[in-house]
Amino acid sequence: VRGYRAGYLPLHRREIEAGLRDGEITAVVSTNALELGIDIGSLQAAVLVGYPGTIASTWQQLGRAGRRSGSVGVFVASSSPLDQFIVRHPDYFLSSDPEEGLIDPDNLLLLAGHLQAGLFELPFEAEERLGRTDVSDLLRVFEEDGSATRSAGRWFWSRQAFPAEEIHLRRIAADNVVIIDTSQPRPSVIGEMDQFSAPVLLHEGAVYLHEGAQFHVDRLDWDEKKAYLHPVDVDYYTDALASVTVQVLDTFAGPDGEAIARSHGEVKITSLASMFKKIRFHTHENIGSGPIHLPEQTLHTTGYWITVDEELWTALGRETLEAGLQGVAHSLRHVASIRLMCDPRDLGAVAEVRSATTRLPTVTVYEVYPGGVGYSQRMYELHHDLLENAAALVRECPCLAGCPSCIGPLHLVEGAKSACLRLLSATSASALTV
Ligand SMILES: [Zn+2]
Repeated sequence: VRGYRAGYLPLHRREIEAGLRDGEITAVVSTNALELGIDIGSLQAAVLVGYPGTIASTWQQLGRAGRRSGSVGVFVASSSPLDQFIVRHPDYFLSSDPEEGLIDPDNLLLLAGHLQAGLFELPFEAEERLGRTDVSDLLRVFEEDGSATRSAGRWFWSRQAFPAEEIHLRRIAADNVVIIDTSQPRPSVIGEMDQFSAPVLLHEGAVYLHEGAQFHVDRLDWDEKKAYLHPVDVDYYTDALASVTVQVLDTFAGPDGEAIARSHGEVKITSLASMFKKIRFHTHENIGSGPIHLPEQTLHTTGYWITVDEELWTALGRETLEAGLQGVAHSLRHVASIRLMCDPRDLGAVAEVRSATTRLPTVTVYEVYPGGVGYSQRMYELHHDLLENAAALVRECPCLAGCPSCIGPLHLVEGAKSACLRLLSATSASALTV
């Protein structure tokens, strides 16, 4: 039995794939890295732990098994709201067509990638557009960084490298942290991780899991983007939480609405991981903690946010309001991923009792890709539906007073579920009159 994820080194991955093909390896525990493009012939069973987020991914993952013989597919639902929705409404999955990808071709990072790949194939004329877009400014940026040159009124690609190799199918920005095992006389690279996840998973003192084995992070060199680890055998895992704040940079539409107003626009998300906990396996006892000294991470993207009218929140009281808002953020993010047909991990959600920008209790659902790909505007358009669906999700949950599945982490605060429902339904009631 082996582990597998995209961050493993290519040679290591090829070796695991070959082992699966020739029967040397009988089972592999994998992220969605094995979902596409790899024929692993004789696999007979696929067990999906949690809904992959999209109908297309679910069929892809189930389809890894049974290419040569009969097969069985098992879906194990977690307590996440999305999984609970799927098992309660199996028709949603079984009778819908796979989703269409939503992409914004004008996203600056995507546009730059497309332009580089195009320029590699053929030179650009001076006034030439890419689709409808004027790309002359981008071409000048490429000229400055040495990847393009201008000659006789035409632009040429001037690097040796094939630009498409730098472009990932699932991820927009590069710059990963390299993970290095230092236990052998010659240190070896065992994987890499994106720089937004690294502060919470590869901070100094973290226990990092690689193919089921535990590694202790001794040092994280943030400037060099390198994490140095050695294998350990301990009875705990580490859990770090980042505090996240939102700053609105530009409002494209809104605010409009009464008790709950909607807006969408450009936002700056700042995330700072400052401490971690050590948690014992099985008993989940907290057996220690430590500080994290890392610079804050910022993400420029687009988001959709809702603000709560003063009359509504003064009635709730601060603690109840906070728990209720967290519930709104949690349920909204999950129903949004269903409506947008995206992976819940494509979205982040933040609840703030008092936002620095709106000065009101605010819930922001943002896109985790720099620049955004168009989800925020869609959420703004779907505003009323999203709030109604989120209210239904929380109301239909069989728990009495709120649980991690419907309202998320602050479910133990008294009155959290009813506060969340009150916020969400204040919205839908007002939605009917808007
Ligand atoms: Zn619940």
